[in-house]
Amino acid sequence: MDEPNRREEGESGCRDLEHLAHELQTHQAELEAQNRELVEMQHELEAARDRYADLYDFAPVGYLTFDGSGNVLEINLTGASLLGAERTRIVGKPFFIWIAKESVPDFYKHLQQVFSSKKNRVAVELGIKCRGGLRTASLESMAVERGGDVCRTIMVDITERRKHERIHYLAHYDALTGLPNRILFQDRLAQALAAAERSGKEVALFFLDLDRFKSINDSLGHAAGDQLLKDVANRIKGCIRKADTVARLAGDEFVLVLADIDGGEHVSIVAENILEAMRTPFYIEGHSLSVSGSIGISLFPEDGRDFNTLLRNADSAMYHAKKMGRNNFQFYTEGMNAKALESLSMENELRQALKNGDLALYYQPQIEIASGKMTGMEALIRWHRPGDGWVPPSTFIPIAEERGLIVPIFNRVLREVCLQIKIWQSMGLPSIPVAINISALQVYRHGLLDSISHALHVTGIPPSCLELELTESTIMVEVEETIRMMGELKKMGLRLSIDDFGIGYSSLSYLRSFPIHKLKIAHSFVADLTTNPDAAAIASAIINMAKSLNLRVIAEGVEKKDQLDYLRAQGCDEAQGYYFSEAVPAQKITEMLKKESAFEAKQLV
Ligand code: C2E
Ligand code: CA
Repeated sequence: MDEPNRREEGESGCRDLEHLAHELQTHQAELEAQNRELVEMQHELEAARDRYADLYDFAPVGYLTFDGSGNVLEINLTGASLLGAERTRIVGKPFFIWIAKESVPDFYKHLQQVFSSKKNRVAVELGIKCRGGLRTASLESMAVERGGDVCRTIMVDITERRKHERIHYLAHYDALTGLPNRILFQDRLAQALAAAERSGKEVALFFLDLDRFKSINDSLGHAAGDQLLKDVANRIKGCIRKADTVARLAGDEFVLVLADIDGGEHVSIVAENILEAMRTPFYIEGHSLSVSGSIGISLFPEDGRDFNTLLRNADSAMYHAKKMGRNNFQFYTEGMNAKALESLSMENELRQALKNGDLALYYQPQIEIASGKMTGMEALIRWHRPGDGWVPPSTFIPIAEERGLIVPIFNRVLREVCLQIKIWQSMGLPSIPVAINISALQVYRHGLLDSISHALHVTGIPPSCLELELTESTIMVEVEETIRMMGELKKMGLRLSIDDFGIGYSSLSYLRSFPIHKLKIAHSFVADLTTNPDAAAIASAIINMAKSLNLRVIAEGVEKKDQLDYLRAQGCDEAQGYYFSEAVPAQKITEMLKKESAFEAKQLV
């Protein structure tokens, strides 16, 4: 090869090498770039993995997986800390270990759904046992396809949310009955009033108070009382439309708002329905309880335009309904507030009267018709009200019953009667039984028997000197319980009589099982005896019935001779009334007894 060629070749070889080197360099640079990219990717991957790990562990939700038997396969830190255990102690264990007993069945049901459901996600709420106590968790699991064996689940601690919901609920609902409370009721009423303002319609507010609830609560216990309130709430709910609201204000007081009404007729029907719904006895803890209600009604706009006024007026109307003999409803009328105020001040004065001894006992003789002798007497209370003179018991006894004063009044009457009997005995006067009136409310309270045996014990008078008068309607409210109590009283040696007989509704079959001594024919029949053949027929039927049941029978309110003659002809045993004497102070009775014993002494001589 000649020189130039060789040089050329040499030059071109050099260029190739350079080219190669260059390519190598480029390649290396590319490789390095790729490497850097890879390293970067790896960093990114690592960062992503870290992020994932962070996310996995520190996510605000628990993440865990289960196998088909409910064993935990994996769990993140949040999940583990919700369970309050180390992750290593959880993995491989059955999840139910951490579930509150009552939630265990729910968990297995959930698991079964997860492995068989067609839905994408299945959710359940469980009680979780953890170190800090019981918490509430919501589990949401991805459904597992057929053949799959891992269930992926998100677990969220919803304890606080549920707590807030509970607080919200407690702030707006009555925990016992589940009815809205005063706050929510007020809100609903405000809405109803605003709507009525726009539509020009009316709104009714009902105030319902159960009659004699307190005595049932006292005698059967609070659990029974609570059950009764729940049952009552349900019955009321059954009487109203969806748009109406019933709420419990306190104790045995319920309020209702009827929205969007046209006139009083619809309102009356609802009130009737509620009273009717209460008429069926309530069965509670083996007792059949008859409970009635008294309802007061105020209407928007005429009786008030805001909650407080409407409530106050419905309350006044309710008191009026109570006075009208309970178990009825009354619309508010002007003037009721004045009456409510009057009854409040009467209550306060009555308390004072009890303290100051302004209550006096009068005694009305009971005369045996055949012999004309005094064979008994009835103690009747009188109240000397400062500035008002003598107030009849028919005015203040209902208030005493309503305001919880009947028991202290009874105890006073009892003590005074026992002492008076003791005085008459120590004067050597004939021992004649004295009858005391028992209010319906007392029958349901504990302590009646104790008070009586205490008074007998302290004064040392024989129990046969005391007679208790119960009205027919009193007995019929809770027949079984009353019969049991009457049996106890009879065992103690007391006499019992049924007051106002004929106007109540005792069935004859019950009458046989009452352990009583005497029937008292109600005033109303005696008053009409000589003018109304029906009244006369009823009176003579009562007399005959008493005879055949071996009971004594006495007619009340005998004012005229012809009434007495009729009663004598029918074989009535005794009579009581103005014809012989009105109720008089003890001292007058002392004189009568002295005269009788002097008369008897003369007879003996
Ligand atoms: P009641 O048990 O029916 O008592 C009889 C009432 O009739 C008494 O009225 C009596 O004064 C009246 N009366 C007696 N004879 C005649 C008569 O010939 N004609 C007329 N028109 N009335 C006559 P009072 O004393 O006003 O008592 C009213 C009610 O108050 C009693 O009715 C009784 O249910 C209740 N009451 C009286 N004292 C007490 C008491 O200490 N405790 C309780 N829980 N209630 C009492
Ligand atoms: Ca009486």
